[in-house]
Amino acid sequence: MKQPLLDMRDIVKSFSGVRALNGVSITLGEGEVLSVCGENGSGKSTLMKVLSGVWPYGSYEGEIYFQGELIQASGIRDTEALGIVIIHQELALVQELSVMDNIFLGNEIGSFARLNDEAMHHRASELLGRVKLNIQPDMLVRELGVGQQQLVEIAKALNKNVKLLILDEPTSSLTSADIRILLDIVSELRDQGIACIYISHKLDEVLALSDWVAVIRDGDHIATKVAAELTQHDIIAMMVGRQLEEL
Ligand code: ADP
Ligand code: MG
Repeated sequence: MKQPLLDMRDIVKSFSGVRALNGVSITLGEGEVLSVCGENGSGKSTLMKVLSGVWPYGSYEGEIYFQGELIQASGIRDTEALGIVIIHQELALVQELSVMDNIFLGNEIGSFARLNDEAMHHRASELLGRVKLNIQPDMLVRELGVGQQQLVEIAKALNKNVKLLILDEPTSSLTSADIRILLDIVSELRDQGIACIYISHKLDEVLALSDWVAVIRDGDHIATKVAAELTQHDIIAMMVGRQLEEL
């Protein structure tokens, strides 16, 4: 069998003795899109924080294999070096810096460390092109809309040679036009072999975008199913643990 890109096995994560994740397992192949669905507080963000190294190795139980190697990250730098990049719901760009500076921020030890200004400008333009953002790299981030900032975050992830992009509820404050653009970009990245884990409450988006849908409820992994075989009602029924007729 082909080695999966990602294999999270039996992840347990507790906060002060309270289990937020109760043995969750998910796998994902290269270039696949997985949506993680669940009600508020079900453990979606915690699972992604475990995966991305926000919660380091040793602070959870279970194992995470990425490209067949056990991840023992002490922080997000370690997972980013492997090609796992998380974009959180709250945008983390520095508003008073330029788009270009933001793209290279935190990348000092990366392969573009010694690029001169002109080369950085060129590289930033190329990355902005990949996310279809038609802006000058020296624009200030605060001059951009929320949707554009989300795309700059993706450009920044691409600069880190991302293999698995995690979007944790990216669309909660975006307009529907912005969402359309974002979904198109994720589909294109998938075509380029970049896998994505996508967390959203908008089930129409989830079904349009995903190969797989995983559902968690109260920290338990309920199921992972082929998206094409699911309806929105199926997902909701798994999220709440009841058939809709009973609601
Ligand atoms: P979701 O993203 O699905 O809304 P979370 O993963 O954020 O859910 O939260 C899952 C559970 O873990 C919730 O009960 C939440 O209160 C708890 N939790 C999450 N982060 C922390 C934390 N840093 N400290 C204590 N409890 C937390
Ligand atoms: Mg969350």
